[in-house]
Amino acid sequence: MIARAARLSVARRHLSARYLSTRAERVLAAVNLPTDGGEIAGVYDGSWKGSGPAQVSKCPATGEVLAHVRTGTVKETEETIRKTKEAGKAIRAMPAPKRGEVIRQMREALASKVGELGDLVSLEMGKIKSEGKGEVQEAVDICDYATGLSRSMAGRVLPSERPNHVIYEIPNPLGVVGILTAFNFPVAVHVRDFATNMAIAMAAGNACLWKPAPSTPLCAIAVTKLLTPILEKNGLPGAAMSLVCGDVDVGKSIVASRDVDLLSFTGSEKVGQIVAVEVQKRSGKVLLELGGNNAAIVDKDADLDLALQAVLFAAVGTAGQRCTTTRRLFLHKSIASKFLSRLLPLYDSDKLPVGDPLNPKTLIGPMHSQGGVTSYMKTLEGIKSRGGQVLTKRSGPIDNVTGFKEGSGGNWVWPTVVRLKADDPSWKEETFAPILQVAEFDTLEEAIELNNSVPQGLSSSLFTNSIRSMGQWLGPEGSDCGITNINVGTSGAEIGAAFGGNKSTGWGRESGGDAWHQYVRWSAATVNYSDKMPLAQGVDFGFGSS
Ligand code: NAD
Repeated sequence: MIARAARLSVARRHLSARYLSTRAERVLAAVNLPTDGGEIAGVYDGSWKGSGPAQVSKCPATGEVLAHVRTGTVKETEETIRKTKEAGKAIRAMPAPKRGEVIRQMREALASKVGELGDLVSLEMGKIKSEGKGEVQEAVDICDYATGLSRSMAGRVLPSERPNHVIYEIPNPLGVVGILTAFNFPVAVHVRDFATNMAIAMAAGNACLWKPAPSTPLCAIAVTKLLTPILEKNGLPGAAMSLVCGDVDVGKSIVASRDVDLLSFTGSEKVGQIVAVEVQKRSGKVLLELGGNNAAIVDKDADLDLALQAVLFAAVGTAGQRCTTTRRLFLHKSIASKFLSRLLPLYDSDKLPVGDPLNPKTLIGPMHSQGGVTSYMKTLEGIKSRGGQVLTKRSGPIDNVTGFKEGSGGNWVWPTVVRLKADDPSWKEETFAPILQVAEFDTLEEAIELNNSVPQGLSSSLFTNSIRSMGQWLGPEGSDCGITNINVGTSGAEIGAAFGGNKSTGWGRESGGDAWHQYVRWSAATVNYSDKMPLAQGVDFGFGSS
């Protein structure tokens, strides 16, 4: 009763005043989200509902409260899983190319809203306008890919050692794919992470259940509202793409459910490790996309202009909050001071405009949360206290960000570059913030060893013009990461190749390549079309038919 009264009072308070800025109102209205301050239902299982605690969506640039979202309870989550499982039967019964056609229609819907959804990503997550749009474009691209895949998800026909026998390897749908996503790609992971999972999972004949990060529910609700009518228009239940906004309790119940056939988790190493163990306890299937600690190596023969542009975007873009952000920079001794003498002034100049992520000129937006600011500060303080050195003139919180009518309740920090001791523990950890750590090396072998010396194994880049170095980097003695670029920065992957990281990044693969293999159950079928019953490996069981 008390909880209900409190909820009503919150709802009344929001209905009584128009508290959204024009800026936020424009963005929310463009994606058909309420702008009147009323609560938004955060659970979709064919109809919209939610009676769990309210979740607050805040604009990271200004601190403005954008909406209160009514999350799902554990009971509602379980009920949604049940409905998603039921919906999975309709999806798997539909021929794969027909599913592809449904995904094509979703692609059209997303493509028609790239700008609007991109702005919502900028408003709610904080990434700059072109990156917000880029994230939605990635979702469009993956739908294209999945549409094509729906006509080519091939099994195999293999030769049998027995006469008049044939072996098939057959992919079939799993059932329900649970998608737990991080805050930093709310559309792709949200929309990117979500879409990379959803589109491939659906092409493979599965229903999906999505739990977004607690701080970016609006992106998830907008995408679900845009796409689920397409399912229904095609005679499929809306619950085939269900949504439960919620926090850890909702996440835990999805992870624990035996009805979730594949659990695809994108997030931190810490939570990912817990999730992996929980899924293993029920002998379930898990796909992990966890933290990265990515390095760029600039060798003595590198094109420095090119390396400079790539490192700058990968280290500063998204305010250092991409899983593929460059966090470690290894410079050959012969070019180190030259490279830094060009990089550091850029960090300290107005060539990287700070401000409203919705302004197309802005290149540095806010951090997503105060928690992110705290970990940035803690890491910087730690490095300094252990004898490290901040190389940029600017570092720490940004006090005055101009251009907002709404005041400055946002989460702003200066991207910075630091030089730290070889044994500093910071080298081994992912601080999800714009701190670039620098060191020098003598030989490529040494640089590769540094690259590989951390627990994570997501993305890595070598800048070189030497074909020998390229071979070394890509071969067995080279980078141990899931992404091993050459003359391309660590962040900004395309969807065509399988995306994912090794080691404590979790070994998962999403998007292109053979990543779809993880969204199906494989069976091997030996078919005998002879009138004999021979046994494999020449085993004789005494009935004489071999
Ligand atoms: P997080 O681990 O805090 O949260 C991720 C998700 O897990 C959220 O939806 C959260 O609500 C949920 N969750 C939290 N505890 C849970 C539990 N015990 N059981 C089930 N679910 C639980 O991550 P974050 O801060 O939102 O995202 C940042 C992290 O994500 C970074 O480490 C980043 O590198 C990583 N990331 C990785 C990739 C990749 O592809 N490798 C992509 C994007 C982000």
